[in-house]
Amino acid sequence: MKITRVEAIPARIKREEAYLGGLPEGAGRGDYFLRPPYRALYSAYFETVFVKISMADGDIGWGEALAPVAPEVVQQIIEQLLAPALIGRSPLDVNVLWNVMYDLMRERGYYGGFMLDAISACDVALWDLCGKILGQPAHQLLGGAFRERIPCYVSGLPRPTAAERVELAQSYTEQGFGAFKLAAGHGIRADAESVGALRDALGAETTLLLDAHWVYALDEAVQLGNALADLGLGFFEAPINPEDVESHAQLAAAVAVPIAHGETERTRYQFRPWLMQKAADILQPDVGRAGISEVFKIAALAETFNVKMAPHLSVGLGICIAATIQVAAAIPNLYLLEYQPPVFEIANALLESPLICQDGCYEIPTGPGLGVALDEDRLRQMQA
Ligand code: MG
Repeated sequence: MKITRVEAIPARIKREEAYLGGLPEGAGRGDYFLRPPYRALYSAYFETVFVKISMADGDIGWGEALAPVAPEVVQQIIEQLLAPALIGRSPLDVNVLWNVMYDLMRERGYYGGFMLDAISACDVALWDLCGKILGQPAHQLLGGAFRERIPCYVSGLPRPTAAERVELAQSYTEQGFGAFKLAAGHGIRADAESVGALRDALGAETTLLLDAHWVYALDEAVQLGNALADLGLGFFEAPINPEDVESHAQLAAAVAVPIAHGETERTRYQFRPWLMQKAADILQPDVGRAGISEVFKIAALAETFNVKMAPHLSVGLGICIAATIQVAAAIPNLYLLEYQPPVFEIANALLESPLICQDGCYEIPTGPGLGVALDEDRLRQMQA
């Protein structure tokens, strides 16, 4: 029961519609670009990196890192640093192997960022293999499912006007979805008005969430947070720069709306100060950056602080989504999972059998491991 091969496969797939709206003029030639007022680099493509771990007996485990920009960086870490540590080992040692991988560069200070993205992709593939070896879905190996389906929110509403966002949200409510997150950060008044328009149109029962993409200072975030509390917001995500735990703690103490944070963090060590300082009410690790192992442990840590989990799912494709559903099933303190319809469609196009999200919930795959597999021929066809 030994690992014989570890391959990293970077992917670059054409995208029609982006989470934050259409692509700017000139994007789409393989270059990266900015989307003001946001400061992060974006790709004109869906970019990711898959990991394929093979066993001597022919079993294959699939993993994926969240790698929306420069997936080749993660590929190099996997192939040069992690693969030699995994070959010859048993996937059933998944927890030991996480620590082996983590220790490789720990003393050099590489316990976050791209290094952890690479570890996470391998961790997901190891859980997939554990499931295949033992004939059980990953959530069963984590101790079982707390729920039959995974409730989710529609994320983004990428339309330029309030009226169009309302119309888009209403098309989802007709399909049974009752929770929506706005990609915002356009100023206090504009953000409050955007949420207000949705609240007026969709009524008091609909769950509304807001992602501010780290654009606000503390005083602005307090003002907006108070307005959002009046609108009955479910959470206020990424209000302030992500390193600033102290300001988030002050914000969380000042406003009634729950503060959500976490897509930038990757390990339980990184989340610990957020819990200790009561800087977040909801944690949002991404399985493509924290793996199944760490997300499960972060959830356990959060539970002891009465903090809920809303795992982040942005442009991670089918392996990442399936892994997130598996771990979300197995944690007691789940709030909601993220759902991005345009990404989900591309993700499913690359899987041998599709994931299902309907009536506001993800179905939990029941096959062994992640319960899904990558269609490698299809991936080759769809590569840009
Ligand atoms: Mg976000």
